[in-house]
Amino acid sequence: MRKIVFATNNKHKLEEVRAIMGAHFDILSLSDINCTEDIPENGDTFESNAMEKARYIKDKYGYDCFADDSGLEVTVLNNAPGVYSARYAGEPSNSQRNIEKLMLEMEGKTERSARFRTCIALLLDDDEILFDGCIEGYIIDKLRGDNGFGYDPLFVPQGYDITFAQMSSQEKNRISHRAIATKKLIDYLLSI
Ligand code: IMP
Repeated sequence: MRKIVFATNNKHKLEEVRAIMGAHFDILSLSDINCTEDIPENGDTFESNAMEKARYIKDKYGYDCFADDSGLEVTVLNNAPGVYSARYAGEPSNSQRNIEKLMLEMEGKTERSARFRTCIALLLDDDEILFDGCIEGYIIDKLRGDNGFGYDPLFVPQGYDITFAQMSSQEKNRISHRAIATKKLIDYLLSI
């Protein structure tokens, strides 16, 4: 079976993709290829970060590979935190502090539109292909819900009146930015 590395340490993301593609591809994690180092991520767009991670694996380990990068863009904050979503309140990355910083920055703002974005870069043979996923919504001023992670308790997707953190994981995984990009990747891989 054809081997492809998914450049992630996130078990949940890995299981999700394996469940869908496992019959067609042997999806390897970073630990499967003994990659334990931090993969460089110096870009200022989701696209360049995803591509940088995928190229690093392909160059160093020689495997076909895909990598993802995601984050939150808030319109009135010039699309911050964007690629800095994980470390918005500084290093080391801390969700609680990131959320507090976002609430502070949004205090008194009436324009509250925002979106989550994911970009997946796929390196297959000599091809480099990008897949994107985006979900529009808005930022509320008080935390709601306990599920999910990151900025989920502050983000209400368009067409809903509950936050990502108030949704079940199944419901979020059906509509999220990551789900949209992952579906494009999977459709592509299953079509070749
Ligand atoms: P990653 O690229 O998927 O690791 O995401 C980077 C950062 O973006 C995370 O640490 C979160 O702060 C934020 N983020 C990405 N996706 C989500 C999501 O689905 N919900 C909440 N926060 C997210």
